[in-house]
Amino acid sequence: MSILKQRVLVARAAILIMATCGLVTGYLLGRVLALQLAENGLDQYAKRTLVRDDASFLEASNLLSVLKDSQYPFCSDAEIAYFRELIFRSEYLRDAGRIQGGKIDCSTTAGHLVRPIGRFTPNSPKEDGLIPYSNLVPIRDASLKRAGLQLGTAYVVFGSHMPVDVGPFPMHLTLPLKEPARQQSDVTTGVTPGSVGPDQTTDGKVHLGDTLYATRCSTTHSDCVTASASVSDALHGEVEAIAGSTVVGGLIGIFFGIAFSSMYSRSRDLCQQLHRAVERDKLRVVYQPIVSMASGQIVGAEALSRWNDEDGNPVGPEVFIKIAEEHGFIGTITKAVVQHCLRDFAETIRKHPGFRLSVNVSAADLTSPSFLPMLDDSLKRAKVTSRSLVIEITERSTAEGEVAMEAIRSLRRAGHSIHIDDFGTGHSNLDKLLYLFADTIKIDKAFTRVIGTDSVTVAILPQILAMAKSLGLDVVVEGVETEYQADYFTPATEKMYGQGWLYGHPVPAEEFLGVLAQSLHRGLAPSDLPATRTANAGGLHIVGA
Ligand code: C2E
Ligand code: MG
Ligand code: MG
Repeated sequence: MSILKQRVLVARAAILIMATCGLVTGYLLGRVLALQLAENGLDQYAKRTLVRDDASFLEASNLLSVLKDSQYPFCSDAEIAYFRELIFRSEYLRDAGRIQGGKIDCSTTAGHLVRPIGRFTPNSPKEDGLIPYSNLVPIRDASLKRAGLQLGTAYVVFGSHMPVDVGPFPMHLTLPLKEPARQQSDVTTGVTPGSVGPDQTTDGKVHLGDTLYATRCSTTHSDCVTASASVSDALHGEVEAIAGSTVVGGLIGIFFGIAFSSMYSRSRDLCQQLHRAVERDKLRVVYQPIVSMASGQIVGAEALSRWNDEDGNPVGPEVFIKIAEEHGFIGTITKAVVQHCLRDFAETIRKHPGFRLSVNVSAADLTSPSFLPMLDDSLKRAKVTSRSLVIEITERSTAEGEVAMEAIRSLRRAGHSIHIDDFGTGHSNLDKLLYLFADTIKIDKAFTRVIGTDSVTVAILPQILAMAKSLGLDVVVEGVETEYQADYFTPATEKMYGQGWLYGHPVPAEEFLGVLAQSLHRGLAPSDLPATRTANAGGLHIVGA
C-alpha cells in the first residue's frame, strides 16, 4: 500500500472513530441533560400548581367560614342566591351548597334539590373542622369528579388546579398525598395520571423506572403536588437539547479526528524527512563545554545533535531522537554523531588526552550487536583511545535489563567512561549494578533550576551528592545558568563539574575549538586535576560528607 493511501486510510479511520465516539458521548450527555431539564420542568409545574392549590385552599376555607353561618334559611332561594354571588366572585371555586350525611341538599348549579343526592364519602377530617373530599361533583357536570371541602353543612367544589402552560411534554398531576382530597388528571393534555411513585409526601425529584417525578408540598396546609411524566415523553419533549448535544459531540469528535490524523501525518512526514536527513548526513552536531567547577577550566564537551526539517524549521532532539528510536534507526544517528565527534576532535584529543568527549546513547544502541564493533572501529580509524569517549546513558536505557547491562560492562572493559545522564529523573528502582560500572552521575537540570526556591526537590540534592561521594562517583551538574546556582555547589567542588549556559551554550565544532584554545591558553590543560575552590558560606552542606 502506498504511503499516501495509508495516510488517507488512517485519517478516515481516525475521523470516523472519533466522530462516532463524539456522537455517542454527545447523545448520552444530551440524554442526561434532557432528563435534568425535564425534572426541572416537572418541578416548576408542581410548584406552580402548588401555588394555585395553596391559594384555592385559602379561598375555600375563608369562604366556607362565611357560608357556614349564612343568615339565610337553610337551602332557601335567598341562601342559594347568596352562595351563587360568592362563587361568581371566587377565583378557584366552581360550586357551593349544603351537604348533610354525604348527601347534597342544594347547590349553586342545581338549586334546591327536592331529594338530596349523592353518597359522598369524605376523607379524614382536618383538625380545624374542615372535611376534605376527593370525589364531589358539580351537579350540572356530573361527569367531572372534583375535590371539595366541607365546613359545618356548607361545602365548596374546586375548579381545575392546572397551570395553563404545562410544558414541552405531557405531565400528570397527583394531589394531595398526605391526606387525599383531590386527585385529577391533566385536563390540558387529556392524559390519565401515571402510577404514583413511592414517596410523594416530601419535596424532591426522583427517577423511578420509566417515570420521572417531582413533588412539592405545601407549607400552609397538608397537601403535596406531584408532577410526573414518562421518560420517553420527557426525552421526546427535549429532543432539541439531545440533538444539539449529539451534534456538538460529533463535531468535537471530528475535530479530534482531524487533529490526530494531521499529527499522525506530520509525524510520518517528520519521520521520513529525518530518515532522509540521516541518510544524507544532514544532522549537525554541536558541543557544549563541561567545566571543572573549582577551576572553571573546560575538561570536556557533550555532543548534541541538531536537525532542521526540510522547511528549515529546527526540530528539537527530544522530538527527533524519539522518532528515530521508535522507528528503529537511532543506531544510524549514534554512529553519525560518533563519527562527527571523532572527525572534529581527534586532533584535540591526541594533543590533550585528558579531554573527554561525551556522546548520548539510547537503549537500542546498548542492545544492538553492531554498536560495540562500530565504536571500536571508529576509534581505531581516528586513532583515539576509548578513554577519551564518554558514553552517556540514562536510567531508562537500561530497561532492556541484562542485555543492556552486559553492553555497559563491555564498554567499561573497553575503557570508556560511563556517565549516568539526567540523574534523578529515572525510575526509583534503579539497577544498583549500574553504579558499579558508572564513574559519573549527571544531575538533571530539573534540580539545578529550583536552587534558591523553596521547592522540595532542592532538599534531595545533598543526599544525591552524599551518595555520589560514598560510591566514589564524580558529579556533573547540568543546566547551570547562574552564578548563584554554581555557588550552591562551591563547598563540594571536589570532583564536581558543571555544564550549562553559565559556562557555554552548545556551539558548532569550530567555535568550540576556538573557545577551548583560549581556555588552554589561559591556564590548565583539561587533563589537569581541578583545584579546590574556596568554600562559600550559605552554600551546600553535604549530608554525611
Ligand atoms: P541531555 O543529554 O541531558 O543534554 C543536555 C540538554 O540540556 C541539552 O538539550 C542542552 O542543550 C540542554 N542544556 C544545557 N545547558 C543548559 C542550561 O543551562 N539550561 C537549559 N535549560 N538547558 C541546558 P538538547 O540539546 O535539547 O538535548 C536534549 C536531549 O536530547 C539530551 O539531553 C539528550 O538526552 C538527547 N540528545 C541530544 N542529542 C542526542 C544524540 O545525538 N543522541 C541521543 N541518543 N540523544 C540525544
Ligand atoms: Mg546527555
Ligand atoms: Mg541530561
